[in-house]
Amino acid sequence: MKKLNVEKSFVMIKPDGVARGLIGKIFQRFEEQGLKLVAGRMALATKEQVATHYPGENKKWLRNLGDKTIESYAGDLKSVERDFGTSDTLEMGKVVYQKMIEYITSDPIIITVWEGNEAINRIRKLVGSTVPTFAEVGSIRGSFAFDTPSLAVRSGRVTFKTIVHASDSKEEAIREIPNWFGAKYKSLNGYERVDYVDIF
Ligand code: ADP
Repeated sequence: MKKLNVEKSFVMIKPDGVARGLIGKIFQRFEEQGLKLVAGRMALATKEQVATHYPGENKKWLRNLGDKTIESYAGDLKSVERDFGTSDTLEMGKVVYQKMIEYITSDPIIITVWEGNEAINRIRKLVGSTVPTFAEVGSIRGSFAFDTPSLAVRSGRVTFKTIVHASDSKEEAIREIPNWFGAKYKSLNGYERVDYVDIF
C-alpha cells in the first residue's frame, strides 16, 4: 500500500458563506474530493478566537497586510492615503486587522476539520487564491466570491469577503484546530470514506 501523508485541515465557512446559503455546496466539493469530515459545528466567533487565529501582534505580518493592500491599489498611493488616511504599511495593517476581526465575528460561522491524504494543499486548491477576482475558475472563491479590495474599502468594510478560510500549512492547522474547537478537541474519524479507501 502506498504511504499516505494524512493531514488535517481547519476550514471555516465565514459569515458571508453562511449568509449566502453556500454551506452545502462547499461541503459537497470537499466530500466529492474524498476528504473526510472529522469535526464540525456552527459557532459565533469571539474576538479572542479571531485575535489568536491571525498573528495580529506580529508587526511583520501587519506590515505585510499593509503591503498587500497597497498592491491591491496597484501602487496608487494617492488613493491609498485618501481611503486610509495614511500609506504607512504598519498603520494600514492595523486597520485591516481590526476589520478582519469585525468581519469574522459579525455573524455565525461553520467550523470544520477535514482529513485526507495531502488534505492541506488539496483544500487550498479547492478554495482558490485570496483575492476573489484572482481566484482560479472552478475554485470555491473563483465560483462564488465577487468582492474586491477596492469595493471593500469604498463600502467601509475594508476586508474583502472570501467565503472560506482553510489552513495553509500543517503548523497552522495544529494551531488553529484547538483555537476553534478547544484544547480537548478529538476528531471523530472512526469511520471510513468507503469510496476513497476502496482505490488503495
Ligand atoms: P487566506 O484567507 O487566503 O488564507 P490571508 O490569511 O492572507 O488569506 O487573509 C485572510 C483574510 O483577510 C482574507 O480571506 C481576506 O478576507 C482578508 N484580507 C487579506 N488581505 C487583505 C487586504 N490586503 N485587505 C483587506 N482584507 C484582506
